[in-house]
Amino acid sequence: MPELPEVETVRRGLVQAMEGRRIERAEVNRPDLRWPLPEGLAERLGGARVTLLRRRSKYILADLDTGESLLIHLGMSGRMLVSGVTLGRFHLDHPVPQKHDHVVLHMEGGARVTFNDARRFGAMDLVRTDREAAHWLLAGLGPEPFGNAFNEGYLVAALKARKSPIKTALLDQHLLAGLGNIYVCEVLFRAGIDPRRAASRIAAARIAALVPIIREVLSEAIEAGGSSLRDHRQADGELGYFQHAFRVYDREDAPCPACGTPIRRIAQGGRSSYFCPQCQR
Ligand SMILES: [Zn+2]
Repeated sequence: MPELPEVETVRRGLVQAMEGRRIERAEVNRPDLRWPLPEGLAERLGGARVTLLRRRSKYILADLDTGESLLIHLGMSGRMLVSGVTLGRFHLDHPVPQKHDHVVLHMEGGARVTFNDARRFGAMDLVRTDREAAHWLLAGLGPEPFGNAFNEGYLVAALKARKSPIKTALLDQHLLAGLGNIYVCEVLFRAGIDPRRAASRIAAARIAALVPIIREVLSEAIEAGGSSLRDHRQADGELGYFQHAFRVYDREDAPCPACGTPIRRIAQGGRSSYFCPQCQR
């Protein structure tokens, strides 16, 4: 499941092909993805100019000069392919159409953006840009990790009343938008906090210290995504998936990079938590 850094990498990879350009033609090959696609999607996209490409949490928003924004969610298996442009060191030729190419945007200037999703857990919707905050997928979201509303005071106050484990609390999208299982594990390792600790019982200073750590972990992953765009090895135009060097995530029984103790995996709220029982208290 792509998390915030992967989605941000996809967004950055799409900017060149989409931002400031007109969608000459939109090809919509089925009526639904995870949910039904909006009525008249192809007609409403065709001829519209993309004025700005943004991200909110794990959603990409393409603002159109028609007053609507195209909301894109990659879901579990959605893939964005860009072709007909030069990305990093490679010129990406248009690929042969694939079975699960559900939406294809033919951009002014010859670029093509293809949304391919074999399992169809992804989604697309059109929302009036000035009413975006009320959209059902966006309405309940907490502040962005890089936004001003997310700060030490906010996090300390928000976690004070939470009796749930810190791991579970940080995954709550109402509290903070865009942080998923992988990066919460990495954040808690870097902060030296045991994922099982009740959020409300952690000292305010340790909670406050999480704010810069969250930003640092996400920034590093976005930077890694940026280098994967620049040195795109496969040159197939698929955006957003790249190899990370995680310190604890998916490293059960491997030695902790700080102390050598085997990394433990436990289940919390149906998700795997990876942590060092020695370094995280
Ligand atoms: Zn350790």
